[in-house]
Formats: sequence, C-alpha cells, structure tokens
Amino acid sequence: MRFSQTFIPTLREVPADAVVVSHRLMFRAGMIRKLSNGLFAYLPLGLRSFRKVEAIIRQEMDAIGALEIKPSVVLPGELWKESGRWQTFGDAMLRVKNRLGTDFVVSPTAEEAFTSIVRDELSSYRQLPLVLYQINTKYRDEVRPRYGVMRGREFVMKDAYSYNIDDASLDRSYQDMGRAYRKVFKRCGLSVIAVKADSGAMGGSGSEEFMVESEVGDNTLLLCRDCNYAANVEKAACKPDNAPAVATLVPIEKIATPEVKTISELCAFLKTGAKAFIKTLIYRAINVELDLSSAPGSSKLAKQRPAPEAPAVYPEAFFAVAIRGDLDVNEQKLAALLKASELTLASDTDVERITSAPVGFAGPVGLIMVPLIADETVVNMNNAVCGALAKDLHYAHVACGRDFTPWLVSDVRTVKAGDRCPVCGGDLYEKKGNELGHIFKLGYKYTRSMRVSYLDENGVSHTPTMGSYGIGLDRTLASVIEEHHDDDGIIWPMTIAPYQVILVPIKYEGAVKETTDRLEQELETAGIEVLLDDRNERPGVKFKDADLIGIPLRVVIGDKNLALPQASVEVKRRGEKEARVIAVSDLVAALAGCVMRERMALHA
Ligand code: ATP
Ligand code: MG
Repeated sequence: MRFSQTFIPTLREVPADAVVVSHRLMFRAGMIRKLSNGLFAYLPLGLRSFRKVEAIIRQEMDAIGALEIKPSVVLPGELWKESGRWQTFGDAMLRVKNRLGTDFVVSPTAEEAFTSIVRDELSSYRQLPLVLYQINTKYRDEVRPRYGVMRGREFVMKDAYSYNIDDASLDRSYQDMGRAYRKVFKRCGLSVIAVKADSGAMGGSGSEEFMVESEVGDNTLLLCRDCNYAANVEKAACKPDNAPAVATLVPIEKIATPEVKTISELCAFLKTGAKAFIKTLIYRAINVELDLSSAPGSSKLAKQRPAPEAPAVYPEAFFAVAIRGDLDVNEQKLAALLKASELTLASDTDVERITSAPVGFAGPVGLIMVPLIADETVVNMNNAVCGALAKDLHYAHVACGRDFTPWLVSDVRTVKAGDRCPVCGGDLYEKKGNELGHIFKLGYKYTRSMRVSYLDENGVSHTPTMGSYGIGLDRTLASVIEEHHDDDGIIWPMTIAPYQVILVPIKYEGAVKETTDRLEQELETAGIEVLLDDRNERPGVKFKDADLIGIPLRVVIGDKNLALPQASVEVKRRGEKEARVIAVSDLVAALAGCVMRERMALHA
C-alpha cells in the first residue's frame, strides 16, 4: 500500500479529552476518529489492526470447536421479557421501537438470542456440548464513555455461549475457553492476569476476568505475594481477622454521645479504636432476586415474577448491613448476595424512617423495619459499641446473638492491601486493572427461564446448563497500545501491526524509487504486508510518522547505501535504537525470517 493512496491522517496535536496513551496514539496515528461521545470510526490503519485481533480470536475459538454464527444486532424485546432482563438490565440497554410500536433491543450482550436459537434446534443430548459464538457489534449506553475505544458506547465483542449437559461438561467448556483466552492475549502481545470475579448477580457458579494492569483501570485487583491467588475486589476474600471475643459478657448499656456522629468522632469520644464498633449502613436495592420471604418486613414488599419460571423479583427493598467499624462494605459483594441489579446507600429520609433516628445513629439492636445482614466480622463481637436508634445515644457492651440476631451472615467486607490471602495467609497487595475478557459459568438462569430442554439417552427431558464468554476487541486493541509504546508512538507486536514493514525512500525518485518499488513487490510476494511512504515529504517527517504508527520494521532506502559495493539499505526495528545495514539482495529473506520468528514467538 502506498502512503499517498491510503488515508492515514496523522496528527501532532492531541484532542483535549484524550487522557490515556492509547486514546492519544490511536487518534494521532490516524487509526480512529470520534463521531460522538463513545462512538468512533476506525480509519484504514486502525481497522487493519482491529481485523488482526479479530482473526486471532476467531482462530482460537475455532481451535476449541466453537462455532461462529452471526445473529442480528437488533434483537426482539420479547426475548428479554422472557428472560426477565427487560426489567432488570437497566439503562445501559438501548431500547427502540419499530414503526408498529414493537419493542427491540440493540444487543448489549446476547444470552437471550443464542438461547432462543438453541432452544428451537436442540432435541437430543447428542447435540451437546454446543459452543456458539459471534464477533459482533454491541451497544451499551455507558454513563461515562471514556478513554477512547476502551469504554465506548458501541463496541465489538466476541461473545460465546456454551450449552452443556452437566457441571462437568460446563467445566470443560469453561476451561477450554480460559485456555483459548490466554492464547489470544499472548498472541496479541498482552500480559494478562486472570482473576476470580463476581458471578453472583447473574446466578452463576464460577467466573474469571482477564485483566491488564493499568493506572486508569476501573478494577481493583488483589494479588497474593506468596501464592497465585488473584481476585477482583468485587469478589476478593481474606482470612478472618476477627478481634478476640471477651470471656465475660457485660450487660448492654446505653451511653450518651452528644454531637458525635462519625466513627472517628466516636473513637475520639470513647477513646477506643474503630475495631470496637459495629457500623450499620442502610441500603436501597433494586430488583432483588434473593428470597426474602423469611425476612423482617417482607410482607410489605411488592413482588414481581418477570417470566413464568423466573424467581420472584422485589423491585425495591431496604437492608441494614452491620460491619466492624474499621472496615468498608463492598457494594458489589452485597449486590451479588442480594442478586440485585442496583444498590445505593439509602437517602437520609429513608434512613431516618427506618432507624427512627437522625442519620448517624443506626445500629443493629432493635432494628426491626428491615432485614439485617451482618458481615462475618460481626458475629463474634460481644463487647461492641453501636448506634442506639436515637439521637445522641449509643449502646456499649453489645453482643451479637444476645442483643441482636442477624437475618443473614455473609462476607461483605472490602478486602484491602495488607489483608491476609484466603488461600495461604500471605500478604495481599493491590493493582489497578482493565477487564479485557470474562468467562462465566451461568448455570441454568437462561435455560430455565427460557425453557430450553433436551432428551437424554433414556428419553428423559433435562435442562442444559450454560456458560457465557466475552472479549472486547476494541479494548483489547487499545490495551496493546497501552503496553507497547514509547514517547514517539506505538510499537506494534508483529501479530497485530497494521503493516509489518514500512519502506521509507529518502527521496522517492531515480534509483531509490526503482529499488523501493522492486522491494515492495518482492516483499508482498513473500507474503509480507508493506506500507511504502511515497510522499514527497522530508525524511524527518516520514521517520516521525513511521514511529508514530508503529510499524515493526522500517527500511530506509537512500542513495548512499545503494552505492556501497554491495547495494544496501538500512533496517531498524521499531523500539530499538540501532539500525542495521543489509544488502538489498538479502533483505526479503531477512525480513521474512524476522516476521515469522516474531509471530511464532507469541504463539503459546
Ligand atoms: P466493564 O466492567 O468494563 O463495564 P463488563 O463486565 O460490563 O465490562 P462484560 O459484559 O463482561 O463487560 O463484557 C465482556 C467484554 O466486553 C469486557 O471484558 C470488555 O472487554 C468489553 N466491554 C464491555 N463494555 C465495554 C465498553 N463499554 N467498551 C468497550 N469494551 C467493552
Ligand atoms: Mg465483566
């Protein structure tokens, strides 16, 4: 391809909203342009690399026997009503009506679409396991699209869905996918960390996310210094570090705490540490799927059943959460426990209504309006301080089990750096990460609500279990740039470089032009992708652009080297300082070898 004939609008300036390297470089290298907030166009150079990521993913999916299909992107709202997600998905889903007023969804994910296809075609256990995938457009109405294509509103996802007869078969599909994902990321030149992830809200039983380390990562990861434990903070657990319970119980006592509201004010007032307190927070949860029939106040809660076989959903419910005073509640863990689609701290008005006290005096003793969830750290506390549900009053010497009984006990704390690894007790530390892919054992959530069945060898009907597996292509591509760049621009790994070689004639005329054109031909014949910078620009401009767009191998063709006893050119690896002088006659073989070696090196 000739530079003058393609469309690579490189820029020196950076748009004001481009705060991360990949966004800046994709823009400056002429790979993308913005159409609107979260909506982009890939230009020719960007699209070439995008297609390479796509090809790698497709090869690795095909290699594990996953079968590609291509459903429409606009999907019938009917299917989402069947699964119950029409109500629970929230505002990220773009809903549209056609001219007849029928509801449609612009696919934010596709469990329903795939499951409806499988439902119609599945009859026998012999058809299982079945793993289908698509590489297709998704739309999510992200509240805050940012970092360029890292978090867009429209993006492309490879999403795969497995249908399996039992947990063992699901586990095999899940493990195959995990291995395929590792290969995909390795081939893209990415170092990923697989972390345990939250799977509760969707009702699954196992989930792993593939993360790349990033300063602007949306996820906090907890990693063990001593073993390979790695988890998203949404899921991370730690070894219990309960304060020892006192041997002799002291009767509960009401104490006056005038003008004291926060834990730190209370610590100062009572001259104790935060670990002696039970902090109680009131939460409002939306679309709760947890069974609340045994919970206090449940008789007043409205219930909905979105699909015939779907579990009951409580559109709105309030909860109190008690946790040791030095810890924070992890809202993702809590949402997963409640199987809630949304969770927020209750408003001051709701807190006052539920606790019959001003904000700041909530406590578990005598709290009867809402179900009480206690973090595991609270269970053995038997000499604690907590709010007394009245202005300027606290309780001292509170014992869990004696003075209050939680409705549910669970791990809802936020694990932090310095906590102990749940596996080996080692020291946990934190990293920020960006999620590139996610594998997920969904279980029966969709196959049950959408009534999928097959017959076993005895003619008995069963429901298959299901897994769901996604990789974001745009985010993967941007992450490659995050990991491979320098001050001058992108440094593509050979596997996804838009071109493998850039030919830069010092002056595109005469003998230089002749040699350049011949080399272009020969390299292309050898299967190498070549960009020829035929522009009438100063060499400095061409070198700067070559560095910016990050082509792995740069060949400079100039009169001086051509005039050597053995006509030569200069070859430089992007990212390396030194160039090498190579005889023109050896060039094609040398470059072909280099391209091959570098591609193979990234193969798992
Ligand atoms: P996130 O937590 O980042 O919003 P998610 O957990 O909602 O992502 P999944 O539903 O697991 O995402 O989707 C699978 C993959 O799709 C993600 O791992 C990511 O690579 C990609 N992805 C999701 N949302 C976006 C987005 N807004 N822009 C680009 N890629 C995205
Ligand atoms: Mg995810």
